[in-house]
Amino acid sequence: MNTSANETNTAERATKLAVLKGLRGRCPACGEGKLFARYLKVTDACSVCGEELHHHRADDGPAFLTILIVGKLVAIVFPLFFGLMMDEPLMVALGLCAAATALALLVLPRMKGLMVGFQWAKRMHGFGRPAT
Ligand SMILES: [Zn+2]
Repeated sequence: MNTSANETNTAERATKLAVLKGLRGRCPACGEGKLFARYLKVTDACSVCGEELHHHRADDGPAFLTILIVGKLVAIVFPLFFGLMMDEPLMVALGLCAAATALALLVLPRMKGLMVGFQWAKRMHGFGRPAT
């Protein structure tokens, strides 16, 4: 059953709410069902409301946003670490690489959820089509 059965195909969807649900890894329609079947694999349909989620086209968008965020954070933190550990530049490089990798792995699924939520709210890529 599709939750959008009661709404018309052109009804406005709350973009901010859908994006926040996506950031939490939840279905942008109901906010209850899980968005991901695996780490970055979006489930075909919500297990709670049945909303079809396979229409998403996130492509490289989540990776781009992740690089943007993690890169900015590392660029901000680098001078602080380098000032504290000037005698050991290798340790600064290794520590920041490990932190950037861990942060990227943490941020990437959230950015994908954000993009899927945005696409769902804007009815992009088949999200606006009536269920068949
Ligand atoms: Zn749902």
